[in-house]
Amino acid sequence: MMNIGFIGLGMMGYPMAHLLAQGGNALRVMDLSPAATSRFVSEHEGACTAATLQDFSDAQVLITMLPDSNAVESVVLGKDEMQGLSGILRPGSVIIDMSSSEPVRSRQLAGHLAGLGFRYLDAPVSGGVKRAVAGTLAIIVGGDAQVLAEMEPVLKLLGKCTHVGPAGAGHAMKALNNYVSAAGLVATVEALHAGQAFGLDPEVMVSVLNASTGKNNTTENKVSQFMLSGAYNSGFSLALMAKDLGIAMGLGKSVGQPMPLGEQVLQIWRDANAALGQSADHTEMYRYSPPKA
Ligand code: NAD
Repeated sequence: MMNIGFIGLGMMGYPMAHLLAQGGNALRVMDLSPAATSRFVSEHEGACTAATLQDFSDAQVLITMLPDSNAVESVVLGKDEMQGLSGILRPGSVIIDMSSSEPVRSRQLAGHLAGLGFRYLDAPVSGGVKRAVAGTLAIIVGGDAQVLAEMEPVLKLLGKCTHVGPAGAGHAMKALNNYVSAAGLVATVEALHAGQAFGLDPEVMVSVLNASTGKNNTTENKVSQFMLSGAYNSGFSLALMAKDLGIAMGLGKSVGQPMPLGEQVLQIWRDANAALGQSADHTEMYRYSPPKA
C-alpha cells in the first residue's frame, strides 16, 4: 500500500484514482471542483481530500491528471502566493505527471525536480474514458527506468506501461500519437460528409471502412458510437485535442521537422474549437463544417 496524492479528478482522473484506491492504496485527492472531491471521498472509504497542497506532505507518490503544463506547473512549482509541491513533498518522493503535457517543459521540470531531490516520471495515457474505467490504458512513460520499475505495481492498476525514453519522451510520444489520431478523425469526417453529399449512407460507409484499408480508431470506436448516434459524449473534449495538436506541432518546430499536414490539421481543430466552444466533445468534429472555399 502506498500513500498516493492525486490531483485532477476530471473525466480521466476520477476513474483512475478510483482504481488506485480499489487497489488498496491510501488516496488523498484534490480538484478545483469541490463536488468532485466530495463525491470521491463519499464513494471511497479511507480516502481524504486535500484542502491545500500542504496536506500532501506525507505522499510517497503524487500523481497529476490535469489539463496541461500550465496547471501541472502551478501545483508542482506554485503560483502567485501559493507554495508548490516542490516545497512540500519529502525529497525522494515520486511525482508522476499523467496529464498530456508539453515535452520540453516536462524535461525542464524533471531537471528542476531532480535538483531538489525528487524523482519524476511523465506517464501520459491513451485509450480514453472507457479504458480508464476498465484499467486498460496505454501508459506511455518517460523517465528513469528504475523509478518506473518501482512505480509499476501502482501504474499496473491503470493499464500497461511502455517505457519510451528519458523524461519528456512520454509526453512527446503522446502528442505525436494524438496528432495521428486527430488527423485520422478529420479524414474520416471529411470522407463521411463527402460520401453523404454523394448519396452514400454513413452507416454503410462506416461498415465498409471497417472492412477495408481506411479502418482507423475513429471508424472503429467513434463514428457509430458518438457521431452518427448524436451522443457526442466520448469524454474527451475538442479543446484538449486541439491543445494536444498544438503540442505536437510545437515539438516538430523544436526539432526542426516540418509537419505541413499537421499544421493544417491543427488549424481545422482550432477553427472547430472556436466554432463549437470549450465544452464540445472532440467527436463533435462531425458537426463542424469548415468554411466553403
Ligand atoms: P478534465 O477537464 O475532465 O479534468 C481535468 C480536471 O483537473 C478537472 O476536474 C479540473 O477541475 C481539474 N483541475 C484543473 N486545474 C486544476 C488545478 N490547478 N488544481 C486542481 N485541479 C485542477 O480533463 P480530462 O479529460 O480528465 O483530461 C486530463 C488530462 O488527460 C488532459 O491532459 C488530457 O489531454 C488527457 N487525456 C484525456 C483523455 C480523455 O479521453 N478525456 C484521454 C487521454 C488523455
